[in-house]
Amino acid sequence: MSSAIESKANIDNQASAIDHPTTYFRCIAGCSAQHSIFDVIYTCPACGSLLEVHHEREPLQKRSAAEWKTLFDSRASTSKWPYGSGVWGMREWVIPSLADENVVSMFEGNTNLFWAERLGQQLGVPDLWIKLCGNSHTGSFKDLGMTVLVSVVKQMMAQGSTVKAVACASTGDTSAALAAYAAYAGIPAVIFLPAGKVSTAQLIQPVANGAHVLALDTDFDGCMKIVQEVTKDNSIYLANSMNSLRIEGQKTVGIEIVRQFDWAVPDWIIIPVGNLGNISALYKGFKLMMDLGLISRMPRLVAAQASQANPFYESFKNGFKAKVSITAQDTLANAIRIGNPVSYEKAIKAIAETDGIVEQATENELAAAAAHADLTGMFTCPHTGVALAVLTKLIQRGVIKSSDKTVVVSTAHGLKFTDFKVGYHESTLHSVDSEHPNPAVHLPADADAVKAEIEKRLSV
Ligand SMILES: *Cc1c(COP(=O)(O)O)cnc(C)c1O
Repeated sequence: MSSAIESKANIDNQASAIDHPTTYFRCIAGCSAQHSIFDVIYTCPACGSLLEVHHEREPLQKRSAAEWKTLFDSRASTSKWPYGSGVWGMREWVIPSLADENVVSMFEGNTNLFWAERLGQQLGVPDLWIKLCGNSHTGSFKDLGMTVLVSVVKQMMAQGSTVKAVACASTGDTSAALAAYAAYAGIPAVIFLPAGKVSTAQLIQPVANGAHVLALDTDFDGCMKIVQEVTKDNSIYLANSMNSLRIEGQKTVGIEIVRQFDWAVPDWIIIPVGNLGNISALYKGFKLMMDLGLISRMPRLVAAQASQANPFYESFKNGFKAKVSITAQDTLANAIRIGNPVSYEKAIKAIAETDGIVEQATENELAAAAAHADLTGMFTCPHTGVALAVLTKLIQRGVIKSSDKTVVVSTAHGLKFTDFKVGYHESTLHSVDSEHPNPAVHLPADADAVKAEIEKRLSV
């Protein structure tokens, strides 16, 4: 009892220092107001634009670039709370005013960046790397953003906020991440899913974590409208990526990539995009590193879209003169089946400021690229297939050169998408002609039959 009171007193103490004056929400369109990170606010009250978490540069410049590098390097291998997390290992750049005891973390991040030697050789870009963000707690990069958002909510609740639950609309991975982090913190979560449009693994994750899972007869964009309505009264906190806290966690991916290359910047980073939070986040991390002198040039960012859900590609084609919104069609890459991307304005900046490109891939192309990569030892999710198909196109077009250092961000774990894999190898996906199907062969338990089969296979 007394220790609980003591720790509460401790939190209150820190709460008084919480309104960190150098990190705050501000409007991306330039309205001048600043808002506390711990306010329930998602868009600019003056103009309705998205907010972003702004970090004033001056206080951060008190450490030199070399000192930042040494600090982040030193935390990357620790288990000390909360620095064992790839996100909280950069806490000064994320949410500096978050108290240790309010960090909700399962030590996400620090995912492997590996050399795709055989695939790169086959594609003609030997310096090809995969950033495997799917090797994470709930199997996608969404964990990086949710650790930040749920931590902020925990701190808000500790300070007596009226928030009593968190909610999101999701194409699958967002809800899995939110449900897991909310359960870890003991905060109720409400999940809105488009009925019948997410994989079994994606559906069962929030169910298992005890979230309130509501499957609605609509698509993602329809769920998004409902969740915005439900979260209006401020007792339920909105966890979609229009909430820019998630971007703060996700921006660590780019910083982590550079750290893993001993602070060298790759030439290209290709990422599959839907709501465009992830590419906005990548850019934000690189911009911060530039401003603080840790790097001296930007990578070129490539946004990869499924042609069935390609509003950002269409906007890119019209030179971003007008935002294109569409009704997204069925795609195997269901996590990026989004027709009206929320972080559109932020993503335009990410493309414009990095000499970036938006490209698309068909169902056949994404499935073939995923299957090809799997034959070199990977187990790629369909979204990673989209990115790999776009990589192939840009190589063929001569845009990505054989000497370029290229990173493909693999956004989810392939094991969340076994329906896609099974369908591909059984040649039952109706939108795809399986080029490399490899179904298991059924044989009698007879050594001669087995030897004959092996011989036949190894001699081709
Ligand atoms: C969410 C998600 C994306 C797209 O991220 P956005 O921020 O919506 O652009 C891509 N791949 C996977 C696996 C995802 O879960």
